[in-house]
Amino acid sequence: MKLYSNEENKKLISLMTARGREPHSVVITGERGSGRKALAGYLAASLLCEDHSGKPCGKCKSCMMLEKGTHPDFITAEQNENGNYTLDSIRALVSDAVILPNEGRYKIYLIPDMDRSVNTATAVQNVLLKLVEEPPAHCVLILTAVTREIFLPTIVSRVFPLATEPCSQHDAEQWLTMKGCYGQDDIIRAVSVCGGNIGRCVEFIEGKDLPLAFECAKAAAEAMLENDEYSLLKAFFMCDGKKAAARQALVFLSEIMHGACLYALGVEPEKCCYKRGAELLASRYGSAWAEEIYALVRDHTGRVDANCNLSLTVNSLTARIVMVTRKYGGHF
Ligand SMILES: [Zn+2]
Repeated sequence: MKLYSNEENKKLISLMTARGREPHSVVITGERGSGRKALAGYLAASLLCEDHSGKPCGKCKSCMMLEKGTHPDFITAEQNENGNYTLDSIRALVSDAVILPNEGRYKIYLIPDMDRSVNTATAVQNVLLKLVEEPPAHCVLILTAVTREIFLPTIVSRVFPLATEPCSQHDAEQWLTMKGCYGQDDIIRAVSVCGGNIGRCVEFIEGKDLPLAFECAKAAAEAMLENDEYSLLKAFFMCDGKKAAARQALVFLSEIMHGACLYALGVEPEKCCYKRGAELLASRYGSAWAEEIYALVRDHTGRVDANCNLSLTVNSLTARIVMVTRKYGGHF
């Protein structure tokens, strides 16, 4: 029942429930891994807790069932194997919503990752429209997405918006340690790369693509420091045709460049996956260089998104970085 960070959200939820102004439709936004589902779970627990104190007591039957994931009135929509929602499953959810709750005062439906499939997002919202417009008194609908842009204006105007608040690195470390299944070195490394985003930290420790993408971005930053064109190209080819990892590597690299811009202006970035590299690049080439490289990396990330050929994109990026760096006195 413990929700890290999100102090403002907790206060808001507690105020709303204390005043009997519980929302019936909520949209939770935040980057992937930032705890949108945890916040949804906390909201559900606050609404269903038998204590009605505005925050989950963690002891009543309802809180215990939620903790175990067995509460019959907290229902998470199921995605198919492609991560999409079928219209039939959403229609079934809407018909189920008119039936009274089994245990508590509310029946709460969570539909996570509404933006997972852009193709079906609008159709899904059209099915949900009636539920959002005229919700039964016992029904609460919680939708999550990275940003609100995916939602239809008619939905946006009727929902209560919540956004996840970032965790501190200390909280993330504490949470990962409490899980008891990760080594301390892994935890420290993951938090230094992913900051307080717990979901990403877990992905970094358990997955393969995220660490690979980070190594690729780090090697690229180091090649720029060394003025080594061959190493730069080699760094970009570390992801070897893996589009998702290559894209993530560019995201990490743009974070490093953004960090370099800030360091060059005398500001320490709050979040940067490779602070040491960013600091060295800033002192070596300055802020104008970092801004240009940042724009280049973002532009090439867009090319990956637009399905341009991966090796052509990487070759073009390398050539442009070399050109810009020469302009700023680098001897590639
Ligand atoms: Zn309780």
